[in-house]
Amino acid sequence: MDKITMTVPLVEMDGDEMTRILWQMIKDELLLPFVDLKTEYYDLGLKHRDETDDKVTSEAAMATKKYGVAVKCATITPNKARVEEYNLKRTYPSPNGTIRAILDGTVFRAPIIVRGIEPCVRNWKKPITIARHAYGDVYKNTEFLVDRPGTAYLVFEDEEGNTRKEVIHHFDQPGVLHGEHNLDSSIRSFARSCLSYGLDTRQDVWFGCKDTISKTYDGRFKEIFAEIFDAEYKEKYEAAGISYFYSLIDDIVARVMKSEGGMIWACQNYDGDVMSDMISSAFGSLAMMTSVLVSPDGCWEYEAAHGTVQRHYYKHLAGEETSTNSVATIFAWSGALKKRGELDGNARLSAFADALEKSTLNTIEEGYMTKDLALITSLENPVVQNSRDFILAIRSRLEKILEEA
Ligand code: NAP
Ligand code: MG
Repeated sequence: MDKITMTVPLVEMDGDEMTRILWQMIKDELLLPFVDLKTEYYDLGLKHRDETDDKVTSEAAMATKKYGVAVKCATITPNKARVEEYNLKRTYPSPNGTIRAILDGTVFRAPIIVRGIEPCVRNWKKPITIARHAYGDVYKNTEFLVDRPGTAYLVFEDEEGNTRKEVIHHFDQPGVLHGEHNLDSSIRSFARSCLSYGLDTRQDVWFGCKDTISKTYDGRFKEIFAEIFDAEYKEKYEAAGISYFYSLIDDIVARVMKSEGGMIWACQNYDGDVMSDMISSAFGSLAMMTSVLVSPDGCWEYEAAHGTVQRHYYKHLAGEETSTNSVATIFAWSGALKKRGELDGNARLSAFADALEKSTLNTIEEGYMTKDLALITSLENPVVQNSRDFILAIRSRLEKILEEA
């Protein structure tokens, strides 16, 4: 078989620890033998971020803006312990935060569904994708303790010095206060990202917040979603046979539990934080969750939802065998290659990405898996494989699928 060629490069962001080891194995065994891989490589490993004063992270994000598609390995977000471990010049911010700020995107997280790993909720048949708004609300709040009786006001002063002032509460005892905000522009780009992603993946979009209680704040979210849907998406949704649906968050939660899945659930920042943890654990495993950052101007950055799997990396360094699940990282690659194929009209590349996903799922369904899945599978007598053997088992199935095609 001659190798599949690529016309436009993909932005490749390498990362840290165990996922960096898996990254190289995936490239060597599952990609380079079959694809004439064209990537613009950025090393986001912590050592290189430190050497470049973290410039490499913004450069990688700018390259994503240029080429439109990126694939990212998990990276360390340094804390105090990491500053010592890597002898860093300073505590760098989270690379994902830096990239998200440059691309202004929304993060979509979806579980990878495979026979043998059953969701706790019996009626869920298809993945549920959480879209989390990643700006403002409680994550950018101002808050303080009230330690004596008095009156709290919400005050706004415009640039000419005119003020608007409303009583929040007359305190007759100690208590707490907090203020939060959001921006029309951010809510708009969130709405566009969700509605575009729905169209792109042919899934209904559900959005819920609490506009009965927060008539103005949450009401604004509801209004902006409705405006953008009516003006820009309604006809396209009708043509695609999908729908946009708004309801109160409590009603959405109840409906999600009773559904078959297969929708995009758009969440405000806090709701998305909480609900994505519920969805990923209810579907089985964090190691089976994909994540894609979609910007409002159409850039796509794919990654696994889990971190660098530090504990396994130290075992690996100590020469011990590891059984680390590479599925979400493989799907980050297949997602990016599929998108590249779609944007460039490269059908062979998209078909390869499909074959890679299929061979990965077949491997698990035939009973070969890493330890984390073996512990929760409903299949009998699973074969527990180490990190490399699992990837090699996928490779042999991939070769067969590609030969047959
Ligand atoms: P983690 O890397 O997600 O791992 C937490 C635990 O989950 C592991 O110890 C392992 O459990 C299990 N696990 C996660 N992924 C797995 C996989 N692929 N295969 C098998 N088991 C898996 O989270 P963490 O240990 O809290 O964070 C480590 C580093 O990752 C941190 O420096 C953090 O900053 C970074 N991080 C990066 C990203 C990102 O780049 N997107 C996201 C989150 C965290 P057992 O040990 O029980 O086997
Ligand atoms: Mg959370």
